[in-house]
Amino acid sequence: DLILGIESSCDDTSVGVVGRDGQVLSNIISSQAELHSVYGGVYPQLASREHLRAVLPTVELAMKAADVSHADLKAIAVTRGPGLIGSLIVGVDTARALARGWGLPIIGVNHLRGHVRSADLEETRVEYPAMILLVSGGHTLLAHMTSPRSIELLGSTRDDSVGEAYDKTARLLGKGYPGGPIVDKMAASGSARFDLPRPMVNNGLDFSFSGLKTAVRMLVERSEQLDQDDVAASFVDAVLDVLTSKVSRALELRKSSSLIVVGGVAASPPLRERMAAVCAEHQVRLCLPPVKWATDNGAMIALAAWDYVDNHVGADLSPKANLGLAAW
Ligand code: ATP
Ligand code: FE
Repeated sequence: DLILGIESSCDDTSVGVVGRDGQVLSNIISSQAELHSVYGGVYPQLASREHLRAVLPTVELAMKAADVSHADLKAIAVTRGPGLIGSLIVGVDTARALARGWGLPIIGVNHLRGHVRSADLEETRVEYPAMILLVSGGHTLLAHMTSPRSIELLGSTRDDSVGEAYDKTARLLGKGYPGGPIVDKMAASGSARFDLPRPMVNNGLDFSFSGLKTAVRMLVERSEQLDQDDVAASFVDAVLDVLTSKVSRALELRKSSSLIVVGGVAASPPLRERMAAVCAEHQVRLCLPPVKWATDNGAMIALAAWDYVDNHVGADLSPKANLGLAAW
């Protein structure tokens, strides 16, 4: 049994072929990062045009790499939101056309559920009940999950996401997009000697990162002689302190066997290290997707689609720019 998953919610066109237990037969990513790099972020109109150009060839490549034909597929899954509406429409329309042509059912998948399920790609890691830290380009949230049917949101960001804060810090330092890997790399050779704020660190389970971003801007504007690596290291340290303390608090509040850390920022090596330490302290199993599955991919959408099949969730295909984590 295989599902083909199509992801086009942001700036990557990706298609994966995945089995019920998360076996990845193939996953192809057509990245637009270089195209958007000059704008320091994603340019929506350009993104949908590129998806339109890339989506069918990417489907074809993924099927070829998995060595399957449409007769081997059980369904076609596609991200229906959240994301850039123009980009979502390209994916959904393509999936519709393929499903009709091939006589297959179609499943509209919540992208955030895709990120959550990425922790079980290639290998089943998650044990329930599980705490979720989702840190991506558009979201930063904490949730508790007893099963895919039962997800409780515990906290989210009041302003910027962690990924956005990374991207903006990179821009302030005159670097490209996406900023996450760049800032991480700089931080690795710097020292966290600047005192930056840890917004809302002692306060509940919500997040706020715009104040940190402003503090970085003021720091950079104050002096041009600053060692940029030290600025990056100080920024990363502040982010990690906040995430660590929130996760600790959440684990104290809700019984959890696993901690799932997913989303693009989950590719960050220092974040992975700090989360391992938190889990050791709380005796919780750390469930991280391999780095390549942390950022957007079609495989995670296909794996999440199996939850829709198992729970008999009907296909809602309407593209949605905003969609909560608990929504199907
Ligand atoms: P969402 O999933 O919320 O809709 P998105 O799909 O655009 O947003 P992802 O692809 O999950 O976001 O994540 C992209 C973000 O991850 C970017 O902000 C990027 O800077 C960040 N990121 C990627 N790699 C790293 C890294 N090694 N360290 C820190 N951040 C990273
Ligand atoms: Fe994403």
